[in-house]
Amino acid sequence: MKKIFKHFILTGLILFILLLPVFAQQQTPIKVHQVKGNIYEVKGGSGANTGFFIGEKGVLVIDAKMSEESAKQMIAEIKKLTSNPIEHIILTHSDGDHVNGLIGFPEGINIIAHHQTRKHMDKAFKEPKQRLYLPTQTFSNKMKLYSGSKLIKLLFFGPAHTNGDIVVFFPEEKVAFLGDLIFLGRDLLIHRHKNGSSFGAVKTLKSILELDADTFVHGHGDIANKSDIEGLIKSLEEKQNKIKALIQEGKTLEEIKKVFNVEDRPTQPGRRRWLSLVETIYLEITEKK
Ligand SMILES: [Zn+2]
Repeated sequence: MKKIFKHFILTGLILFILLLPVFAQQQTPIKVHQVKGNIYEVKGGSGANTGFFIGEKGVLVIDAKMSEESAKQMIAEIKKLTSNPIEHIILTHSDGDHVNGLIGFPEGINIIAHHQTRKHMDKAFKEPKQRLYLPTQTFSNKMKLYSGSKLIKLLFFGPAHTNGDIVVFFPEEKVAFLGDLIFLGRDLLIHRHKNGSSFGAVKTLKSILELDADTFVHGHGDIANKSDIEGLIKSLEEKQNKIKALIQEGKTLEEIKKVFNVEDRPTQPGRRRWLSLVETIYLEITEKK
């Protein structure tokens, strides 16, 4: 009897572990909340937080969620608030959790992104259906966009999370959408395979602080303010300086990782090795030499 009981527990445990990814994927429902004026944030569903602006004649969407289903749910939520058509989708960068939902939007829609973001998507979008949703309009440094009489500035400050992250800035409302340029409460994520840079991130974050903005919407957390960004810059610079000093002392990467208590995450087969911020900074510094 005892043995059967043990067996039962063990089977349960194995089942639980096997089903963990399924639980993890269970999504919270799509929820829209007003940021300021006609600017909204969309949380939940699959993928990162997104946003939209309801203009006099059309709607501007910022990022596309991760699945067709979530994108369609987002569109349904927008329709509850306005009958205006979606005019543009702006992509903050190329990561799948921000762009894979594009296929849920009507074909032929105007998609705006940094030219490097289009390059990353051109590589990643292999399915014929996906290829219908490559950005239709790109820029390099900045772009002014009007939705009716509303000015929206699209700004690129250099490589950071990737080499194509843009800020979507609404000057009148002092609201900026940052995509994944900030992460609060956890390390900044730098995609080296997309030519991201932690030193570039500091420069970009300092440029963001210079904007006359007070509300920062981002991909994976609650709305931030300037002091959140100041804190992020400070901790990032401290980490970079400490790593620099340790390298000068002749410490190896493994030794430096130990100083920061960094444990390497196990890599799933076929997936890119996950680099900690510490390792990323170490590589950036040592490559510079
Ligand atoms: Zn990202």
